Amino acid sequence: MLSSATRSLHPSIIRQMSRLRGPQSVDLTLGQPSLAPAEGLLEKAQAEAKTGGHGYTENAGLREVRELVATYHQLPHAPGAENTILTVGSEQALYLALTALLEPGDGVLIPSPAYPAYPGILKLLRGRAQEYILSAENGFRATVEALETAVDSSSKVLLLNTPANPFGSVLAHQEQAQIAAWAEKRGLVIISDEIYRELYFGEENYRSIAEIYPRSLLIGGLSKSCALTGYRLGYLLGPEDFIKQSILVHQLMVTCAPRFSQYLAKQIFSQPEILKAHLPYYQEARETISEYKSGILPSWAQLHLGEGAFYAIIDLSEKYPQGAFELAQELAQEADVLVVPGLAFGEKADWFWRLSYAQGKEAVSEGLARIAKFLGNR
Ligand code: PMP
Repeated sequence: MLSSATRSLHPSIIRQMSRLRGPQSVDLTLGQPSLAPAEGLLEKAQAEAKTGGHGYTENAGLREVRELVATYHQLPHAPGAENTILTVGSEQALYLALTALLEPGDGVLIPSPAYPAYPGILKLLRGRAQEYILSAENGFRATVEALETAVDSSSKVLLLNTPANPFGSVLAHQEQAQIAAWAEKRGLVIISDEIYRELYFGEENYRSIAEIYPRSLLIGGLSKSCALTGYRLGYLLGPEDFIKQSILVHQLMVTCAPRFSQYLAKQIFSQPEILKAHLPYYQEARETISEYKSGILPSWAQLHLGEGAFYAIIDLSEKYPQGAFELAQELAQEADVLVVPGLAFGEKADWFWRLSYAQGKEAVSEGLARIAKFLGNR
């Protein structure tokens, strides 16, 4: 009964790992904030819902909210409401963008390792996943050299994710400029997945590649920055003609994003400082990892901490070029710490673990202490 593309999908290893959770577990698996949404936010949205109505909104979302989202992002080629669609999480924005762009067989350059939805969506849309390798030498960031190896004449889209899942790596301005110049020559569309953009700890000002590349689509949402994963509010920004026709696709997928969540977005983008309210909490957890970085793990296991998102990784490749998945199961059994094995992000990625520090510094401290003891015995 199932299509071949549907049959080829696998259950999420991330979910599989987090199901091992017991009462004493240190769970560093899910990229899900542990904080509550900003104080008063839900109440204000509720007050708005009482007077504002309960029906469908415009397909693209409430105009004033789209205007606020576009104003926040300041993209020269996507300045206003006509450039913006409110979506059901950034995941739907991704699906929507790729549905609107691809013919079967079109190539899409995706990172490897990558957030598993990228290859999954491409299977369903009959696109071709063309993997560019993120390697330790380049701080797990995209490079023109890696892209050059992956590209061919079928390539239509370059998918970038910065700050990145699983590595937390962030493209520097200069790297963005190089990649934009390269993509321009190839006539590629860039999709920039920036769901972690507010969780950025680097020194340069945050900048999106979409600010300098007019053939780009920017994807974001409220899940991570505002601890609103369950409210499913994301958005897609892009050139007006592209957005206008994509609204018709969006309408067929979901009609519109949930009205209540659009009210939440209205509150947030009216006071955009809310988007950064949780940053100090993650910063603290990040500093805890940073302190541990020199020394707690055996020398063959490398702790990498990028400049963004709330993920660190432990590179086990020196001793386990393969087998990090099995090792993660043993870690769960012996030390009751749950991590996401690299295998969740691609078949070739069975050499690292991803640790989410979204649960705060106590969880991270305890988790790393247990991991150090466990690895010390290998
Ligand atoms: N992109 C990346 C890179 C992610 O890690 C996630 C969620 N883990 C998403 C998109 C989707 O997030 P949401 O649909 O909750 O906005």
